[in-house]
Amino acid sequence: MTIQIRIERTTAPKPRPQASELGFGKYFTDHMFIVDYAEGKGWHDARIVPYQPITLDPAAKVFHYGQTIFEGLKAYRTETGQIALFRPDMNMKRLNRSNDRMSIPAIEEELGLEALRQLVLIDKDWIPDAPETSLYVRPFVIATEAALGVSPSKQYQFIIIMSPVGSYYAEGIKPVSIYVESEYVRAVAGGVGHVKTAGNYAAGLKAQEGATEQGCAQVLWLDGVHRKYVEEVGSMNVFFRLGNKIVTPALTGSLLSGITRDSVIHLLRHWGLEVEERLISIDEVTQAQKDGSLKEMFGTGTAAVISPVGSLYWQGEKLTIGDGSTGELTLRVYETMTGIQTGRIEDPFGWRV
Ligand code: PMP
Repeated sequence: MTIQIRIERTTAPKPRPQASELGFGKYFTDHMFIVDYAEGKGWHDARIVPYQPITLDPAAKVFHYGQTIFEGLKAYRTETGQIALFRPDMNMKRLNRSNDRMSIPAIEEELGLEALRQLVLIDKDWIPDAPETSLYVRPFVIATEAALGVSPSKQYQFIIIMSPVGSYYAEGIKPVSIYVESEYVRAVAGGVGHVKTAGNYAAGLKAQEGATEQGCAQVLWLDGVHRKYVEEVGSMNVFFRLGNKIVTPALTGSLLSGITRDSVIHLLRHWGLEVEERLISIDEVTQAQKDGSLKEMFGTGTAAVISPVGSLYWQGEKLTIGDGSTGELTLRVYETMTGIQTGRIEDPFGWRV
């Protein structure tokens, strides 16, 4: 199929922020992509327009029943001046899994990928080039039908916005403290924890506030049924190095299948290391910390790529991971992943597009 995207360029380009003021998700580029959906018509009128507010009826279903999903990926400027996305097809596939779970009609993968490509190219001057900066891309779908009945919307918009983001680690990759959450849970199998829908994130804020009060950066989520198996860290997947083995929680239905997670598993196996995807309880983790076999722990996700965990707070105790600094394997994974993403090193997997 040929994909037609109408383009209306801005006549008032905005000033672009300095690399030092970027932060995360504070500034938005000059253009956005929109495509509408209506029952009987399908997805139609794909367009790139100047970045602007959207007008919705106050009865739009997204406001009342949260029928919405999103994605997150990054565009990088490589050292040779090329523009690269990291495994964008994986984001489109996950977007459609989220759509399916939230009763939103699928979006043709080629349309999504072409929209990403054209939008990034139109706003390519917004891709910052200071080390470790990138252009964060946020595709999302909202239910726009104005009707208060609890049923799938008959109208939607799929929108892509983009934001130049700064280095996650202004002073170098740094371990964080993590609060093991025992009161609240993020998700249960059969629910929506395995997809990217807004409610998962709103429901996590309360625990995040608690972690912040305890001086921690994020929470470690335990499963909602047994209340003991480790699931995710904040909105990242989690890895443990136990001796020479690497363990990451299995995708049981309540975890998000991270694209960084998948890539790190591939990379570790490519290096000949043993990776187990299985249940891992908080008791196993604390036991391994006590007997010294827990060497390293890190989170994986698009925003920070790799986030080392320096300590865990659990049942009033502070447990230091390794010697509390960034582990050797964690650093190697970080350097390799960011190297592949930004073109600093060769990409043996064909992930860079
Ligand atoms: N878990 C959750 C809940 C997330 O929101 C994210 C970010 N998308 C991740 C894990 C990491 O996924 P990815 O590596 O695809 O960014």
